[in-house]
Amino acid sequence: MDADWSTLPILGGGYGPKKKRNSPAWLVVHHSYTDIKGRVKPATWWAGVFDRIHRKDNGWSSIGYHFVISPEGEIARGRWETARGAHSVGFNSQSIGLCLVGNFDISDPPSQQWSTLRALCLDLMRRYGILASNVIGHREANILHYGEMRKTCPGKLVDMSEFREDLAVEAWMHKTGWV
Ligand SMILES: [Zn+2]
Repeated sequence: MDADWSTLPILGGGYGPKKKRNSPAWLVVHHSYTDIKGRVKPATWWAGVFDRIHRKDNGWSSIGYHFVISPEGEIARGRWETARGAHSVGFNSQSIGLCLVGNFDISDPPSQQWSTLRALCLDLMRRYGILASNVIGHREANILHYGEMRKTCPGKLVDMSEFREDLAVEAWMHKTGWV
């Protein structure tokens, strides 16, 4: 649970922490909308794919996400947590963007991937003092920013309200020393 993700290498290293700053007050969850076709690849491989797409197609300086989680539950780091992200309009300078590899409009996230997301969110919540109520899906960030849902991200099958309740209970149990 207290694994130190901060020791993992930064893929978007060229976009360093001294660039445009990020003050994380929200966690924004995404899915990559990728048909993984049964491929089993390291998280850094997937992050490399998104890095190339974000540079080439979007013209960004690096991958837009701060974290990528493979279907097997492995983590790769994109941008520095303190560097502004490029993943959710209106939230990029005040959030950490986490991307689950897969398409959860058509299938559920694998349990190992979900448990890594959960542990990573709890770690980030603790480190930045973020409440479970500020852990949102990209579609919810769209509603808060645009007043309407523009995508299904992180997938129609992902229930963010249920996830927030789970995180709130777990965070409370940690705080009170129950676990
Ligand atoms: Zn998204």
